[in-house]
Amino acid sequence: MVPFISLKGVCKSYDQFLALDRIDLDVAPGEVVCIIGPSGSGKSTLVRCVNLLEQFGPGDISVGGIPVRVGKDLAAVRAEVGMVFQSFNLFPHMSVKRNVMLAPMRIRKLDEATAAARAMALLQRVGIAEQAEKYPGQLSGGQQQRVAIARALAMEPKALLFDEPTSALDPEMVGEVLDVMRGLAHTGVTMIVVTHEMGFARQVADRVIVMDGGRIIEAGTPAEVFDHPTQQRTRDFLKAILAH
Ligand code: ADP
Repeated sequence: MVPFISLKGVCKSYDQFLALDRIDLDVAPGEVVCIIGPSGSGKSTLVRCVNLLEQFGPGDISVGGIPVRVGKDLAAVRAEVGMVFQSFNLFPHMSVKRNVMLAPMRIRKLDEATAAARAMALLQRVGIAEQAEKYPGQLSGGQQQRVAIARALAMEPKALLFDEPTSALDPEMVGEVLDVMRGLAHTGVTMIVVTHEMGFARQVADRVIVMDGGRIIEAGTPAEVFDHPTQQRTRDFLKAILAH
């Protein structure tokens, strides 16, 4: 198997603090990997390193065979890898449709009509075509996150990184965002999803990764990790989160 995303010995420090400690992880093309683990274990840092939102070192990351590092290849990596954040990060002064059109026009040089048609198709796909002319501030959190997913898809990425995409949402809106993500899984796009939604991870992930203290402490199929965890720290984490 040639991995689409590969991390080898990746470390990341903030001053003296080691947030990632020798992470090795290969993600196959089209694979869905969910990353779980306690707060502060390095999950967000890991996904942010994949498209170099955080600088890291020592260690190596590659995406589609392209090394992830500062330099001329970085734009190519970022064009392949879409990111969806906890806090949506939409442009507040642009309509929903414009938010989705922007990157394809600027980076892929699509003309306005083509970008608009594609934006509408994507908004349809995430179930909010009727909100296209509104501004993000006029939408619910769940709707804004669905726009953010459509915006990421507009660049036709080969991989999508999700950093706790439902953590900022009111509980009744979590389901609609997870439904959209479930619809994307196993369509060919490679997905790494940092999540506290254990039901989603169990149902959708090909592989579940458990992090603690900047390390991957356990990895396996959902059945292996949730039903037969090998590590006491995994058992403690699952017990705490499922009791919640
Ligand atoms: P998680 O996503 O698992 O909650 P993070 O990756 O956000 O964990 O953080 C891992 C560790 O790195 C935490 O201890 C956090 O406090 C620390 N950290 C994250 N970002 C920064 C930063 N910008 N400066 C200093 N420390 C940070």
